Amino acid sequence: MQTFIKNLASLVDQEVEIKAWLYNKRSSGPIAFLELRDGTGWVQAVAAKSDLSATVWEDVEKATQESSVVILGKVAKHPKKENVFELQVKDFKIIQLAQEYPIAHKEHGPDFLMENRHLWLRSKKQWAILRVRDSIITAIGEYLHKELFIKVDSPVFTPNACEGTTTLFPVPYFDLGTAYLSQSGQLYIEAAIASVGRCYDFGPVFRAEKSKTKRHLTEFWMMDAEAAFVEHEENLKIQEGLVRYIIRYCLNNCQEELRILERNTEPLEKADNPFTRYTYDEAIKKLNELGSDIKYGEDLGNDDEGILTKDSEVPVFIEKWPKSIKPFYMKRDSVNPDLVLNDDLIAIEGAGEIIGGSQREDDYDLLLSRIKAEGLNIEDYQWYLDLRKYGSVPHAGFGIGLERMVRWVTGVEHIRECIPFPRTIGRLKP
Ligand code: ATP
Repeated sequence: MQTFIKNLASLVDQEVEIKAWLYNKRSSGPIAFLELRDGTGWVQAVAAKSDLSATVWEDVEKATQESSVVILGKVAKHPKKENVFELQVKDFKIIQLAQEYPIAHKEHGPDFLMENRHLWLRSKKQWAILRVRDSIITAIGEYLHKELFIKVDSPVFTPNACEGTTTLFPVPYFDLGTAYLSQSGQLYIEAAIASVGRCYDFGPVFRAEKSKTKRHLTEFWMMDAEAAFVEHEENLKIQEGLVRYIIRYCLNNCQEELRILERNTEPLEKADNPFTRYTYDEAIKKLNELGSDIKYGEDLGNDDEGILTKDSEVPVFIEKWPKSIKPFYMKRDSVNPDLVLNDDLIAIEGAGEIIGGSQREDDYDLLLSRIKAEGLNIEDYQWYLDLRKYGSVPHAGFGIGLERMVRWVTGVEHIRECIPFPRTIGRLKP
């Protein structure tokens, strides 16, 4: 019966069968050290010529990097390292003898690695990133369910824009003309809250962003959450709670992964403290004091986000932005109607914006006037306006970019490593 490497600690002195890939091999005369990986972890297997038949030893010698193998071995504690286990090989079979593997254990350039992304995914760091990504997804689902949100999916083909018309990907759609790939499922989950109260979606969204940065993809995964009867203040609390939960979850469950990634976890530990809050107005003043030439009414660039969070030990909320630079659906601040009740959450360590959220305009007439002022086609948004006709309630929500969160937690520099198969302006393959 197949045993998984992750479970070896509880099987010391027992004989087990491992199905794996050969990650690396070192031989020293009649002993071979085989580094194996089976997806759940890594283990060293020690094969001694004297313990094996001639044909089995021949296979050990023949096995190449990435060959798939079945090994029978006895689990033993590592002679020197605490909590490390190894296998003493009793039998060894090759399932498929791999051809010469293109990604050798040496430095390769990013273009070569991206061209070979389908193979690169098997390397240790990429394995660790995939697992952290999975943990973040799990943490998000756990936290939201605890807060009584349920998952309600939104469509990918949409008839209209959610986040501005300049970053839409059009797709020919039969006799109905043009569909657009979703930029965010927000508008749809706003409809669903009137049924289930609190919900979220989680899926790929698409932005025809021309930005060639280390934190923009054209296809990325977003979790949009939306809650009825939640206003601006509580919206921020839910976001803060979520980010804290994700970080704590990863610190507790991804120790090996973060070690492989050589991540200094000290800054992540600080996320247990309350997050900092600036209004947009305060943020601009602070940025000017710190030397940025940003003007009131402009969006914060990557550099500004860096300057603002440079000395912060916790993520920073920037709330209440000018209405003129934010989407039509955000609710006006009753104290100053030129502002909206929104927030961007900027992570520390140069990770940049991870969340955008807002209370939504729930008044029919005000929403209609914003749609008109933006020059949007009212017919396209009639269904969305309907939500303000039948039992409209104060409500708020936010979107968190999964890869941005993966990038922060793992400390990886480029977002292209935070998704299995990245799509950017210059990359559509593999
Ligand atoms: P940015 O200013 O960084 O381009 P945005 O203001 O366009 O982001 P929102 O529309 O608020 O972002 O989207 C919500 C979240 O989705 C962001 O906070 C971020 O985590 C993520 N996100 C947005 N655009 C991208 C992208 N092109 N690639 C990866 N993640 C993104």
